[in-house]
Amino acid sequence: MTTAKLIVLGAGYGGLLAALRLARLTRRQGATVTLVDQAAVAPDRVRLHETLVRDVPSRRLADLVRGSGVLFQQGRVDALDLNQHTVSITTADGPRQLHYDRLIYALGSFTDRDVIPGIRDHAHTLAPAASAQVRARIRELAATRGRVLVCGGGLSGIEVASEIAEAYPELQVTLATASQIGSGLSQAARTHIAAVLYRLHVSVREQTRILALEAGMARTATDRLPFDLCLWAGPFAVPQIARQAGLDVDPGGRILVDDGLHSLSHPEVSVVGDAVALGGAIHRHVRPACATATAMGSYVASAMAAELTGRGSRPFRMAYVGKYVSLGRREAVADWVRPDDQPRERIWTGWPAVWWKSLVITAVGVWGQIQAERWWSGNYQLARWIEPPDLGHNSGGHESLTSPDRV
Ligand SMILES: Cc1cc2nc3c(=O)[nH]c(=O)nc-3n(C[C@H](O)[C@H](O)[C@H](O)COP(=O)(O)OP(=O)(O)OC[C@H]3O[C@@H](n4cnc5c(N)ncnc54)[C@H](O)[C@@H]3O)c2cc1C
Repeated sequence: MTTAKLIVLGAGYGGLLAALRLARLTRRQGATVTLVDQAAVAPDRVRLHETLVRDVPSRRLADLVRGSGVLFQQGRVDALDLNQHTVSITTADGPRQLHYDRLIYALGSFTDRDVIPGIRDHAHTLAPAASAQVRARIRELAATRGRVLVCGGGLSGIEVASEIAEAYPELQVTLATASQIGSGLSQAARTHIAAVLYRLHVSVREQTRILALEAGMARTATDRLPFDLCLWAGPFAVPQIARQAGLDVDPGGRILVDDGLHSLSHPEVSVVGDAVALGGAIHRHVRPACATATAMGSYVASAMAAELTGRGSRPFRMAYVGKYVSLGRREAVADWVRPDDQPRERIWTGWPAVWWKSLVITAVGVWGQIQAERWWSGNYQLARWIEPPDLGHNSGGHESLTSPDRV
């Protein structure tokens, strides 16, 4: 195939990297690579919590791909026709159909607003479109010592609560979670996070399952948590486009793939990032994360380019280095993991962790890895060889506290 039409759906971390790499690797064969996304600006999700309290620089997708050979088409993907190999999109100029020979599906995920009643009406989720409105409301509430309730004790909830509490110490910030904060992190990391949240006067409510949100109130099985602003940082869901098109998906709508990240039912469709149904034998240790999305994007582009010229490709493999959580601008934790993502029980805290996290954000975000891919294809693979020096559990000089009881 010499003039293949290659389409990448979704310009998140996975899709953008895949498109840039694919264009580079297939340039000599005359393939066309079209990248489709509904957004005009790169959604730098690892910085979304920062946008709640300050301006964060952003870049237009059209600028990011300029000169790379990738054609950027802004538009909402409405449907796929897997028999006709077409994608139906809605653009500013009306509906369009794009034909593909090979497709990369990278439509990612979003915060699920239907897991309990009331989220749509009474809470905000982390999304680029909502940031300016929430930022204005937070500023307004700070003047009256308002109450901010953050629901969800995963990494996003922790980052949101600490970012707001540090920027606006006059606010009363509560972080509520159904289990414990930072489950999935090492004990050392969780202890540090609890200590920092305590110092920032964030009231942590663990084992607090919220059943419904009402106006100004979150209802649990035993009590009610009042709020002036509620930020919902619960689990992610995926668009149902893959299911509706007839791709084999799991119950949540994530696409079932083989060890080369091809759709099991339609191998001409490759899948990257949060859209992939994880958990099979090959992908047991793989978790949804920007690191995963970029590794998959890079892999799929290389594999597709190889397949187009009749060469085979190796199964997808990836190794992790760590999990990095910012706790405001002055604190963070780097929780080092083994290649299979198991905690090493070795952490960095304080300035080394702050420095590392900002380096990772630059590296993984639209400023770093994506640009680097244009200059030096495949550079992300270097991350596999990075071994963190052991700075000890309290590398930032902070005391280790047990989890504070601030219910
Ligand atoms: C607040 C927050 C903080 C996070 N922090 C971290 C972190 O620190 N570290 C980490 O590893 N991970 C983090 N994550 C998770 C990480 O962002 C995701 O795992 C990652 O973005 C997945 O990448 P992706 O390429 O699969 O899809 P996404 O990044 O979700 O991108 C999908 C793209 O598809 C587009 N799209 C979706 N539907 C359509 C449609 N119908 N038509 C057209 N375009 C569409 C979207 O506009 C988007 O650009 C965070 C997530 C959030 C929400």
